[in-house]
Amino acid sequence: MNTSGSSRWLAILTGGLLWLTSTVAAAQNSIESVRAWPSPDKTRIVFDLGQQADYSYFTLYGSDPLRLVIDFNNTALNANLSELGDASLLVNLVRTSSPKKAGDTRIVIELAEKSDPQIFTLPANESYPDRLVVDLPGKSVERSGPAKSIAELKDRKVTIAIDAGHGGDDPGSIGPRGTYEKNVVLKIARALASMINDDPGMQAYLIRSGDYYVDLNERPQKAWQAKADFFVSIHADAFRTPQPRGGSVWVLSKRRADSEVGRWLEGTERKSALLGGAESIIRDTGHEPFLAQTLLDMSMDSSIAGAYSASRHIISEMSRITKMHKTEPQAASFAVLKSPDKPSILVETGFISNPDEERLLNSNGHQQKLARAIYNGVRQYFINNPLDNTLLANQESIEYVVKSGDSLSVLAERYGTTVNAIKRENNLTSSMLRIGQKLTIPR
Ligand SMILES: [Zn+2]
Repeated sequence: MNTSGSSRWLAILTGGLLWLTSTVAAAQNSIESVRAWPSPDKTRIVFDLGQQADYSYFTLYGSDPLRLVIDFNNTALNANLSELGDASLLVNLVRTSSPKKAGDTRIVIELAEKSDPQIFTLPANESYPDRLVVDLPGKSVERSGPAKSIAELKDRKVTIAIDAGHGGDDPGSIGPRGTYEKNVVLKIARALASMINDDPGMQAYLIRSGDYYVDLNERPQKAWQAKADFFVSIHADAFRTPQPRGGSVWVLSKRRADSEVGRWLEGTERKSALLGGAESIIRDTGHEPFLAQTLLDMSMDSSIAGAYSASRHIISEMSRITKMHKTEPQAASFAVLKSPDKPSILVETGFISNPDEERLLNSNGHQQKLARAIYNGVRQYFINNPLDNTLLANQESIEYVVKSGDSLSVLAERYGTTVNAIKRENNLTSSMLRIGQKLTIPR
């Protein structure tokens, strides 16, 4: 890389043609995208580059704000930095600053507290270009992640239990490029939890919030402890050949449910988590097995009917953003779906064994779209089937604070209203929103 040659060339040009320098300073390397991944113990910021990073860095921890400064030599910035700090408690802002020489890019990361950065390069592979990874140790998400702990859950919100499949020693299916299902589904689960917690009428409870395994029978049990009104398990499909692709949504098979309720009541499956939420029904009916059976059947019937209905909403939302393998809800017996007291569904987000879908499932944008589709579907279900005394059933309107990336049309679609209705309700004369602006969104 002949930098002295290009800077001499620049020096000649900058004489009278200043505006040209930005186009002529043809940088050798480029930052094509930047991603931030806050986790409970650190924030990881990843720079995708055209080629291997040539960089240096220093910290400014003696002044306010605390800053980490990274200089990318001879590198252009083609990426948007605007939303990078939003999700992290540790990173307040990622911005540029004047580089020490033309053609370089200086990135400034403003931090909420001192952090000892670990910075390293990763070579290009089949899935990613050359990268520079910046790990900033420090608490980066709320204690309980994007979901609430049981103690934080509020009574009158609709509670959605989100079950990211697999975890820990169980990677789930593994894509041809080595993607682990457990990682992809956790990211989708977290994105879904954030969307749900942004909704004033809903709250999320994550069955697993990190990379560890939860026993299949324990998962519905945890949802029951959280008093969840709905259970959604998130997975990615796999097949032995690469062709199959597309999503599907599963509910508990009625026939299997009936026979398992029967066995449980006969006492042959007393320890099964099948009836996670049903112990109180049994207790309240004393030892009258027929009454218990009837009540359980009714509860199970309505839960399964609810699951079908919610599944249809989710399938319709998902088909707008991804191919569907099955366009009707599928019935099967999955251990995690066996709560009799709440609609429970399992979403296969796509085939991780299909190379195209593996790539999609790995992309943050697609994960967000899948989460948004599930969120929209679940929300639609609860609007059509309101639960007594929940905010979602009672609210005439929603108080909303505008976030980065919002627009009136996005909000109108999300809350099932129109741009004009929002404008009328808030006396808006223009469609411009500013971050932090408070809106009343009519229902
Ligand atoms: Zn799975």
